[in-house]
Amino acid sequence: MAQGFLLVLSGPSGAGKGTVSEALMKSQDDIVFSTSLTTRQPRPNEVDGENYFFVSKEKFFEMVDNDELLEYAQVHNNYYATPKKFVYDKIEDGEIVLLEIDVQGALQIKERYKNVVFIFLLPPSMSELRTRLVNRGTESEEDIDTRFNNAYKELDFVGEYDYFVVNNTVDQAVKDIQNIIAAERLRVKRHKNIKENVSKGWD
Ligand code: 5GP
Repeated sequence: MAQGFLLVLSGPSGAGKGTVSEALMKSQDDIVFSTSLTTRQPRPNEVDGENYFFVSKEKFFEMVDNDELLEYAQVHNNYYATPKKFVYDKIEDGEIVLLEIDVQGALQIKERYKNVVFIFLLPPSMSELRTRLVNRGTESEEDIDTRFNNAYKELDFVGEYDYFVVNNTVDQAVKDIQNIIAAERLRVKRHKNIKENVSKGWD
């Protein structure tokens, strides 16, 4: 069995991470989504335990103190984190665990873990990004400005990632990520018994 790995997907707010990862998950059943914790308020159509685990600041920092988080960061005035146990269990099962996290979280993961593929999702342009943020209609004007300015700063970190994908269309972005996954699956280091498998024949 190939070893599982972490697939980190970052990119500015409005680049389409949510839509792309949803489509990606539908297209492949060997990928599981790591549901993050957040102290932010749920948006109207968000479901607790599906989009996020919505928690109080007290609960959040209790989990920090108990070392239950793989990484955590403050993003746009709220706190976000990846729970550790779920990720460890799934990697052990040979699955690809998709983390949709910001740059600060990705950098923490990069420092601590080896078995990770980092992808940066880009909008086609900054003006298109603003249009998408406005059309989403879920943030106030002030929040949109914060997210837009943060987005521009985040672009400086693209060099920390292994791959970039431009989200011109969701279909194309998903295909690009599928190709990255297919190549990563064939990395020799992810397979322990290649010679044995060839001798016996592959399943
Ligand atoms: P939103 O509030 O739009 O759902 O997310 C805001 C930002 O927080 C996005 O860039 C998203 O990738 C990031 N984010 C979501 N979950 C996590 C997480 O678990 N850890 C970190 N570091 N960032 C996260």
